[in-house]
Amino acid sequence: MSLSRIAYVNGRYVPHHAAGVHIEDRGYQFADGVYEVMAIDNRRLVDMTPHYDRLERSLRELRIELPMTRAALDVVLHEVVRRNRVRNGIVYLQVTRGVATRDHPFPKRAEPAVVVTARRGGRPNPQNREEGVAVVTVPDIRWARCDIKSVSLLPNVLAKQAAKEAGGFEAWQVDADDMITEGSSTNAWIVDADGNLVTRPLANTILSGVTRLVLKQLAEESDIRVVERPFSVEEAKNAREAFITSTTSFVTPVVRIDDRVIANGRPGSTTTRLIELYDQHLATPA
Ligand code: PMP
Repeated sequence: MSLSRIAYVNGRYVPHHAAGVHIEDRGYQFADGVYEVMAIDNRRLVDMTPHYDRLERSLRELRIELPMTRAALDVVLHEVVRRNRVRNGIVYLQVTRGVATRDHPFPKRAEPAVVVTARRGGRPNPQNREEGVAVVTVPDIRWARCDIKSVSLLPNVLAKQAAKEAGGFEAWQVDADDMITEGSSTNAWIVDADGNLVTRPLANTILSGVTRLVLKQLAEESDIRVVERPFSVEEAKNAREAFITSTTSFVTPVVRIDDRVIANGRPGSTTTRLIELYDQHLATPA
C-alpha cells in the first residue's frame, strides 16, 4: 500500500501510520463499539442502505449515539475511498462509545469515536471461487447477541485461526444442538435435495449479513426458493451444495466440511448461478 494512506479519525483526515485513538477509548478497553465493512467495487460503495440500517441498529442496541447523520457519514466514507484511490477494496467503519476513565457503566459524557479506513483488496480470490473452499466445524462459543455487529470478535478470531490451522478457509460454528449458526465472518448456506437454498433464520444467534440479505432477494427474483431454517452439521455434510456469503467473499462455494467432500468436490450448478447473479448485482449501479 502506498505511503499516503489516509484514515478518518474523529473529524480529521490523518496519515494512516499516525492515526490513533486514546488508550482509554472504550473500544480498546471493553470492545464497547460496533463496525461495518463495506465493499468498494469499481469505485462504488456496495449496498450502503442495508449497511447503514445495520449500523444504526447495532448502535441503538448498545445505546451509542451516531455522532453524525447518515448523509455526513456518506461524505466521509466516499472521501476516505477517494483519498486512498481505492477502485476495488473495502472500507472499514468503527464507532465506539468513546474515551472515558475506565469504569464498566456507560460514562455520563463521552463523545462516540468514529474511525474510517479504506484499502485495496479484501475481495474473493478467483481460485476459491472457481474451486471452492474447505470449512472446519468448531463449537460456537459466542454470546447471546450475535445480531449486534460488535467489535468484540475474540471467538471469531479463535474460530478462524482454528480453521486456518486445520487447512480450512472458514470455520462453521456449531450450537449445542449440532446446528450450524454461521461462519466466523460469513453466513452459511446449503442447497437441499430439491434445489432450495437453506440458511439459518435471523435471530440473536447470527449476524444479519448484508450479502445474505441481497442474495436472498436475487435468488427469489430468479425463482430459486430460499428456506430459512437451521440445518445440522450432518445435513450440511450430505448436502447437494454448500457455500458462504459475505462482503469480502461475495458468494464462495464450499466443497469440503471437515473430512467430508461435498457432492463431487466441485462447486455446484446452483452456487455457480448465484455467483453470476451476485456479480451482475455488483455491476448494476443501485
Ligand atoms: N457473520 C459474521 C459473524 C460476520 O462477521 C460477517 C461479516 N460482517 C457476516 C456474517 C457476513 O456479513 P456481510 O454479508 O454483511 O459481510
